[in-house]
Amino acid sequence: VNKETILIVEDDMCMSQHLSSLVAKDNYKTILAFTGVDAFTIINSHCPDLILLDLGLPDMDGLHIIKETRSWSQVPIIVVSSRKNENQIVLALEAGADDYITKPFGNYELLARIRTAFRHLYYYSHIYSKPNTFPYNPLIYHYKDLEINFESRTVKLKNELIHLTKIEYKILIFLVKNSGRIITYGELVNEIWGPFADKNNKILRVNISNIRRKIEKDPSHPEYILTEIGVGYQVKEI
Ligand code: CA
Repeated sequence: VNKETILIVEDDMCMSQHLSSLVAKDNYKTILAFTGVDAFTIINSHCPDLILLDLGLPDMDGLHIIKETRSWSQVPIIVVSSRKNENQIVLALEAGADDYITKPFGNYELLARIRTAFRHLYYYSHIYSKPNTFPYNPLIYHYKDLEINFESRTVKLKNELIHLTKIEYKILIFLVKNSGRIITYGELVNEIWGPFADKNNKILRVNISNIRRKIEKDPSHPEYILTEIGVGYQVKEI
């Protein structure tokens, strides 16, 4: 079996060993890098299938690795960091990280996030290459009572048509297409209103609360659009 290769960028030997034996349980192959320079060399020469990245490295900030790698590669990057500050999480996600997990983390949670990242990767590569071979229907998103048909551009709740404004629809679709990923306020504003939009999130929050009023049973305890406090929003992956 040709299992994916995961590059582990981590300067702490104990943590590096722990991560390595953990992902080996799911049969992934691993390569270790202990510095940023090593990481760059390996990313270029081995083209790993996924990167687990610590941010506090001895020779550079991990953010730099995200930005550089993203400029030419779509390899999934999961940040594994002890930085819990919301601002740090936003910076990493906006630089192009796919996910962010803080230390200490649950072993099963990390493995689940790795599988999610691979699923996204294959989902999108299937959509773009051979849509008919994908096991799910990528034109329909269905979770609990919510159903979105991307082709007819309709949103239904318990089979009842829900009317969303154009902006509301765009926001919902963007979140759904990135389900399983935290989308930062900045990414959403940029996607919906463009790069020159006011970075104030007020209009975004108003729109989200309008969408929630239309699709959530209890908008103060949403089950579809979840809030990541201080960071952004997330729709559950199906
Ligand atoms: Ca470190």
